[in-house]
Amino acid sequence: MAEIEQKFREVNHVELKARLLAVGVGEPTVHEEIDHYFNAPDRDFARTGEAFRLRRVGKQNYFTFKGPKQPGAVKIRSELEFPLGEGDEVAGWHLELLRLLGYREVAQVRKIRTSYRLAREPFEVHICLDEVEELGAFAEVEVLAPQEQAAKAAEVLGEVAEQLGLQQVEPRSYLSLLLAARAQSHLSTPKVVTTVRELRQALDEVRRQHLTIGFVPTMGALHEGHASLMQAARSRNDFVVVSIFVNPTQFGPNEDLARYPRPFEADVRVCAERGVDLIFHPSPEEMYPPGFRTYVEVTGIQDRFEGASRPGHFRGVATVVLKLFHQVRPDRAYFGQKDAQQVRVIQQMVRDLDVPIEIVVCPTVREADGLALSSRNRYLDAGQRANSVALFRALQTAQKMYHQGERDPEVLKRVMEQVIAGTDEAQLDYAAVIEVDSFEPAADLSRPVLLALAVRFGETRLIDNLLLG
Ligand code: AMP
Repeated sequence: MAEIEQKFREVNHVELKARLLAVGVGEPTVHEEIDHYFNAPDRDFARTGEAFRLRRVGKQNYFTFKGPKQPGAVKIRSELEFPLGEGDEVAGWHLELLRLLGYREVAQVRKIRTSYRLAREPFEVHICLDEVEELGAFAEVEVLAPQEQAAKAAEVLGEVAEQLGLQQVEPRSYLSLLLAARAQSHLSTPKVVTTVRELRQALDEVRRQHLTIGFVPTMGALHEGHASLMQAARSRNDFVVVSIFVNPTQFGPNEDLARYPRPFEADVRVCAERGVDLIFHPSPEEMYPPGFRTYVEVTGIQDRFEGASRPGHFRGVATVVLKLFHQVRPDRAYFGQKDAQQVRVIQQMVRDLDVPIEIVVCPTVREADGLALSSRNRYLDAGQRANSVALFRALQTAQKMYHQGERDPEVLKRVMEQVIAGTDEAQLDYAAVIEVDSFEPAADLSRPVLLALAVRFGETRLIDNLLLG
């Protein structure tokens, strides 16, 4: 049999009922319908245009399979529907069987359906007034007919719709409408998962739909710097994942692990505003279960500059990032130039370990006065905050000298040291001119170099850098 139907939106049910009475319909039947829609493990019904559901009408249960829609104004598609046993238990068995076979429930469409029948020889036309949960009032005009009479049935259907004053055709199924409406509202609420298992489940489905995944690893306390990475990921990928995990293995014993800010609710809002689809927020135990003993080391690079000041830091970074890469398996991962040595470590790791992920580096986002945004800036008191602009000033001073022709790295290093030395409360950790490729101190300025600084203000350690050449 073929199902020939047309759906209409913005329908006033009271007026429609009056018109139905005028054309002589009989008493309607009213019942609640709950449709559990599934997607198949071997193909994507959203792409093939097929549909498969378990429909529950009171005690009755049915399986319905609908074939792809044929092109045209009126929806014509093959339909196979048959009854199952009655009752909740039978419905539960079938739902469980489908899940075991790898079918995934996409959504439930719930509606109160008031059905009228109208004889239009040789067909019986069904007019359904649907009050659909989350979507509102619709009407469907429907004829079931043998395939060879489908065109004639479509004609009759058009006449009935016109007679009833139904005009606003809605070509989409309730399922599509519901998924679209939910996607819209999800813009403001990314899904949050806390276990690797949930994360994989969610992303398997994304990959099955052949969507590209952009990934932004963070430690939370999100600001516009993080948001710029999300925005970059959003612009080039179908699906954006942000991880929020304060990674204990990258903190030294005397560092700020315990007091590192964790404003999770505010972080979710930042992600929501930037259109993030999924937040991965694991516990330390989820990432490092008892017995964990494998670490990634990017030798050489990990021990200099930041690594010299923070022994073990890059070992922790490389390890957690590689774990996250395996968990998320993104197409692209986004990092900030603000943490230039971290970028270099990740790029080396990806190259050495054949990780098939594109690393995208985004520019440093700064406050109006030049201070690079950082989750740690909130530790600064007012005086320290005012003085902290010295980092950017030192970098800019050295940059200016380079543009004026200075080519001795030692001179650039010294000038940065002098700016910091002349700043109240500032304690220099290091100032360096670094050869970008080798990440060694630059012997000369013939190739691109990084000007890098680490400075303490009281307990708070700030870093910043600028690329030259
Ligand atoms: P974090 O949460 O500090 O681990 O940072 C997560 C990511 O955001 C890293 O790739 C950082 O480099 C990046 N990031 C942090 N601050 C900034 C900033 N001011 N501008 C651009 N990216 C940043």
